[in-house]
Amino acid sequence: MAQANKRQKTVVIGAGPVGTLAALYAAQRGHEVEIYELRSDLRDPSTIPLNFTKSINLALSERGINAMRQSDRPDLLNRIFSETIPVYGRMIHGKKDSGVLYQQSQAYDIHGRAIYAVDRGGLNAALLDELDTMPNVKVIFNHKLTGADFKKHKAWFEVIGSTTTPNTGRNREIEIDFDLMIGADGAHSAARYHMMKYSRMDYQQEYIDTLWCEFQIPARTVLKGEKEDSKFSISPNHLHIWPGKDFMFIAIPSSDGSFTCTLFMPSANFDGLEADPTQVPKFFDENFPGVTTLIAPANLISSFNENPHLPLINIKCQPHHYTDSIVIVGDAAHAMVPFYGQGMNAGLEDIRILFSFLDKHPSRRQALDEYSEYRKADAHVVNDLALENYVEMRASVVSPLYAARKWLEETLSVHVPSLGWQTKYARVSFGNERYSEVIRKSERQGKLIVIGLVGLLSSPFVLGAGVALYRTRGFFRSKWLST
Ligand code: FAD
Repeated sequence: MAQANKRQKTVVIGAGPVGTLAALYAAQRGHEVEIYELRSDLRDPSTIPLNFTKSINLALSERGINAMRQSDRPDLLNRIFSETIPVYGRMIHGKKDSGVLYQQSQAYDIHGRAIYAVDRGGLNAALLDELDTMPNVKVIFNHKLTGADFKKHKAWFEVIGSTTTPNTGRNREIEIDFDLMIGADGAHSAARYHMMKYSRMDYQQEYIDTLWCEFQIPARTVLKGEKEDSKFSISPNHLHIWPGKDFMFIAIPSSDGSFTCTLFMPSANFDGLEADPTQVPKFFDENFPGVTTLIAPANLISSFNENPHLPLINIKCQPHHYTDSIVIVGDAAHAMVPFYGQGMNAGLEDIRILFSFLDKHPSRRQALDEYSEYRKADAHVVNDLALENYVEMRASVVSPLYAARKWLEETLSVHVPSLGWQTKYARVSFGNERYSEVIRKSERQGKLIVIGLVGLLSSPFVLGAGVALYRTRGFFRSKWLST
C-alpha cells in the first residue's frame, strides 16, 4: 500500500469515457493518479477502435453532461459540444399501405430539450487531452490488468508488445501498489473478475437474442449554392428509427454529414442473411423502407459482410466495491443494452456520485460502503429500463396508446406544472434524479392515468350506483339499526 504520509494513489483501470472521467475527478482532488489501458492511445490513427468498427456514435444526455460539468473543467464541455449535434426527437420511417414512404417526427420533449449525438472516440479523446494537462496523472497504454490482491493493495499488468521473457515466451509483467483502484474496464472487466475472489458478489449476466451490426449513410456532396446542412441526406436533428416487430434499424447523425446506423436483429435472422448476403438489400427493402435510397445496395452488403455482428450483454452485480480497496464503475458494474442511450451516461453519473460520497466521508471504507449500497438500486433499474425500451423503440413508437400517454403527460407538464408531471423519457434523459425515483414517479403517474381513465369510462355506472345506493339507504339504515 502507498505510505500514509503520501498523497492518495488512485489507480484507474480502463481509459474509456468512464475511466478517464474518474481519473479527472481523482486528479482534481490532488490524488496521485495512474490510469492503465489495455489498448494503445486511441488518438493515434493506427489504433484499432473499440469493437473493431469505424466509429460508434452515442447519445449524450443530461446525466453524462452533468457529470462532466461537475469535473470543473469548463473547456472540456465546450470542446465536446463543438462536435455534437442536438437531437430533438425520433423520426419514424415507414411505408403506407398505398406504398408511399412516410416520416413521422416525434419530439422527445415538449419543452424542446435535446440529447446530443457525439462521436465516442472524440469524447474519449477530449477527456484524454484534459488528463494530459494534469501533472499528477500518468496515462499508461498497452497495459492489461492480469491480477490483483485487494488485501495487500497490489496489482499486476501485462505489458502488451513488450519484449517477451525468453523462458516463458510471455509478455513482461509489472507489479504496482495503490490505495484505491477504480475498475472502469468495461463489460468484460478484469477488475470485477479479480474483485469477485474477495467480495461475496452477486452477479447476473444475460445475453439477449439480438446482435448488432454497423452501417453508414454517407455525407452528401454540398453543391454550389446549397446550404451547409444539405450534407445530411435526412434530418440531422433526429434519431432515425425504422421500427420492425422483431428488429430495428437506427441512424444517428455525425457532424461530417454522415450517419452511423445500427441494425439490431435476432441471431437467427443474421444467420439467414449470412448464408446469402446478396439478399441484404431485398431484406432492407421489405423491412426498412427507403434505406436502399440512402445506402447503396453494394455498400449494404459490404458493411454486412465486413462489420462484426456483435452481441448485447446485460450485467447486474452487487456490491460494487470491496473494503476501501476497489470500486467498479460504468459498464464494469452495470453493462446494459443500448436502447435507452444510457450506458455511458449512467457510467459518467457513477463518477459524480462516487466522488460525492468520497468527498463526504473522511473514511474511504465508509464512502465506498455507502456508495455501493446507494448506487446498486439505480444501476439495476436502468438496466431493466434499457431492456424494456427495446420494445418501445421497435413497436410502441407507432402505437396510439403510447402516443396518448405521452400527449397526456406532456400536456399536464405544460398546463399544470404544479403537478410535476413529466414523461419517463424526460426524467431519464433530461434530469438527474435517481433512476429508482424516476421509476417510482412514472409508475405512480401510470396508476393515476388508469384510475382517471377508469373513472371517466365508468362514470355513468358510478352515477347509477350512487342513485341506487341513495334509494336503498333506508334499507341499509334499518338493517344496521336492527342488529
Ligand atoms: P468501455 O467503453 O468499455 O471502456 C473500457 C476500457 O477498458 C476500454 O478502453 C478497454 O480497452 C479497457 N480495458 C478492458 N480490459 C482491460 C484490462 N484488463 N486492463 C486495462 N484496460 C482494460 N451509451 C450511451 O450513453 N448512449 C448511447 O447512445 C449508447 N449507444 C450504444 C450503442 C451501442 C451499439 C453499444 C454497444 C453501446 C452503446 N452505449 C451507449 C453504451 C456505451 O458504449 C458504454 O456504456 C460505454 O462505452 C461504457 O464506458 P466504460 O468506460 O465503462 O467502458
